Amino acid sequence: MRFVAYQDENGAEAVGRLDGTRVHRLRGVDRIDRAAGDLRAAPAAEDGVELDELTLLPVARPEKVFCVGLNYRAHVEETGRDLPEYPVLFPKFGSSLIGHGAPITLPPESSQVDYEAELAVVIGRAGRRIPRDRAFEHVLGYTIANDVTMRDFQYRTHQWMQGKAWDASTPLGPVLVTADELDPGNLDIALHLNGREMQSANTDRLIFDVPRLIEATSQFTRLEPGDVILTGTPGGVGYRRDPQVFLADGDVVEVTVGGIGTLRNTVRAEG
Ligand code: MG
Repeated sequence: MRFVAYQDENGAEAVGRLDGTRVHRLRGVDRIDRAAGDLRAAPAAEDGVELDELTLLPVARPEKVFCVGLNYRAHVEETGRDLPEYPVLFPKFGSSLIGHGAPITLPPESSQVDYEAELAVVIGRAGRRIPRDRAFEHVLGYTIANDVTMRDFQYRTHQWMQGKAWDASTPLGPVLVTADELDPGNLDIALHLNGREMQSANTDRLIFDVPRLIEATSQFTRLEPGDVILTGTPGGVGYRRDPQVFLADGDVVEVTVGGIGTLRNTVRAEG
């Protein structure tokens, strides 16, 4: 099943079940990760609204956003680094996230804003030290992320956080697809910039798969419902191209993941 988070007519966050192009609001659920019991069994309004009439919000409101660097061989090779033997992890914040359709903000301080297509995992059940063979029991579902990165800040020090955690930079959505409907280990993933294909791969190329990432993150911190793991980006990022490509005011960035959909955002200069 597919769910969206959106702003209702009063500006409050609402959650709806998506049936075709119609969204049916869930009763008693104001956040996807806060449904009592099984989200799929939550009662929904009979009347629906058209998806494209709604202002969508990030499909999760995480306490923690884990991001994985260097998780596709082609991307590792384009960076000139060695293959990692343990996941390279860095954080984003809840304030980094925006919904499908919201503008990606170009801050005036950066001249190297880049895109990264990623499959995202949304945690549904809390857990600590989760073994990989139990990992899927903790997954609520999957969505799409664009791990927008300010390269000039990412490489300013040997930590990446300043390049990755800018406010209102990171689209997450448009929908959450429940875990029972997808095999996260075999999904086509692609990114188009103004209609031109920039990245194309399949999640079967992930160096560390979803169970391994849940095992690695939950080893050092408790995963909570709504927490998000961005699983890493394939080759083809703008910074590693010749000539380099960076996002500019007015650009349209689309990330498509098979079985989930397309996450589309326009780039806007701040202010
Ligand atoms: Mg990334």
